[in-house]
Amino acid sequence: MSGNKVEVDKRRTFAIISHPDAGKTTITEKVLLFGNALQKAGTVKGKKSGQHAKSDWMEMEKDRGISITTSVMQFPYNDALVNLLDTPGHEDFSEDTYRTLTAVDSCLMVIDSAKGVEQRTIKLMEVTRLRDTPIVTFMNKLDRDIRDPLELMDEVEQVLNIACAPITWPIGCGKEFKGVYHLLRDEVILYQSGQGHTIQDSKIIKGLDNPELDDAIGTYAAEVREELELVLGASNEFDLELFLAGELTPVFFGTALGNFGVDHILDGIVQWAPKPQARETEVRDVQPEDEKFSGFVFKIQANMDPKHRDRVAFMRICSGRYEQGMKMHHVRLGKDVNVSDALTFMAGDRNRAEVAYPGDIIGLHNHGTMRIGDTFTQGEKLRFTGIPNFAPEMFRRIRLKDPLKQKQLLKGLVQLSEEGAVQVFRPIDSNDLIVGAVGVLQFEVVVGRLKSEYKVEAIYEAISVSTARWVYCDDERKLEEFRRKCSTNLALDGGDNLTYIAPTMVNLNLSMERYPDIKFAKTREN
Ligand code: GDP
Repeated sequence: MSGNKVEVDKRRTFAIISHPDAGKTTITEKVLLFGNALQKAGTVKGKKSGQHAKSDWMEMEKDRGISITTSVMQFPYNDALVNLLDTPGHEDFSEDTYRTLTAVDSCLMVIDSAKGVEQRTIKLMEVTRLRDTPIVTFMNKLDRDIRDPLELMDEVEQVLNIACAPITWPIGCGKEFKGVYHLLRDEVILYQSGQGHTIQDSKIIKGLDNPELDDAIGTYAAEVREELELVLGASNEFDLELFLAGELTPVFFGTALGNFGVDHILDGIVQWAPKPQARETEVRDVQPEDEKFSGFVFKIQANMDPKHRDRVAFMRICSGRYEQGMKMHHVRLGKDVNVSDALTFMAGDRNRAEVAYPGDIIGLHNHGTMRIGDTFTQGEKLRFTGIPNFAPEMFRRIRLKDPLKQKQLLKGLVQLSEEGAVQVFRPIDSNDLIVGAVGVLQFEVVVGRLKSEYKVEAIYEAISVSTARWVYCDDERKLEEFRRKCSTNLALDGGDNLTYIAPTMVNLNLSMERYPDIKFAKTREN
């Protein structure tokens, strides 16, 4: 074993889960600031300011017309090398967001402390449960008036069913935000406003009973001492094993905008979050320290510029190492491919990477031969599991302007569904074609790509479908009966898998009750 153990041990690969506007973009900026990736925070994607990350990739992006800049960000932090995978959140929310969570070893959950646990966060947490991914929590926006911190933690515990262990505890909030007490380091870190764009020389007071604290924050000192007794009594202590099992989350408080507390999270991630983990295949568990290269595709990003047709397949490396010019075996196709120009995402060095290790992400150019979940090895016939499709949450009927091109439309839709952009369903009882997506932007993307890549013009119509489930049953006879009785609600997906499409949640629940032997699955593996 293990030329690469040192490299594996250094790596932390994580993603941020949050509801839109909780502060993911702002935190990403500050995280990169700490990673020295950008000199001055405020240049990541700036969807509001119109700024973009200042990197040489921009040229490449312009050339290729795709946004890869913020898909993956790698940067050093202390002795670690951190990979932060972007999870599209606003209009660009899609199945990719879910699937990215299957490619990380831990997640940072960001909560707007004035609002608490919000709906998107609940959904994303559900996805992290598929792998029991360890979760670090950041309660953001302490520079505003927030909800009671104990109540916030209680809500996380109740709604998300994960125990909370405060690592830092806030002193005041809003205009009176004074800083946090770090329970494990026994020190108070004082907050200074207006320092959001720099790494602050934080003022630290050692020990909660230190009289310096009274000088610094006045009556807040006595208050926090008193409050902490209550907090310690009412909350959990941090427990590494429970954290790694996804059962307990360390909780930090701060303000991303004020760049306060972000370094505490990073310290926590580097110290506690798991290094790249073993991954399951159908045959065996692949250890990151294994000599031979392996990896899987979890996301395919298409070029929206019709002049440049190529797509980038994002691959998580699971074992061995990637070297420029190496030969990889594409297991599903049974073919060897030469990879000479993979994209890597090293912050300091933005050129093509020469080497990459387990936990790292590389981008492979591809002309439509790669699919979500594809495994690449150095010859071994392996297939990684745990990279599912997720049941769509929005549905539209798609119709052609020119009905003669039906075949072409179906071909395009099936290929786009293999890329993971959307899913397509063909009801058993009709000639409809239904497109299902997790995020609304995907519908536009599909029509755009159908036009430019498949030369078909399609339009959408509303349809009364609110959710879908893949259905399975070991008992052929029962499945046949179900098929017969429920045919109006059944469809085949792009891979010909039987799917129940429900007009309402109530309808779904009723069918689940009525047919207890049928399994209704929210995810499906290829
Ligand atoms: P995202 O949608 O999760 O990526 O959220 P953004 O990072 O874009 O933040 C949403 C809004 O909240 C922006 O206007 C940010 O400036 C603001 N914001 C983010 N963090 C903080 C914070 O700590 N305090 C305050 N007051 N505003 C914040």
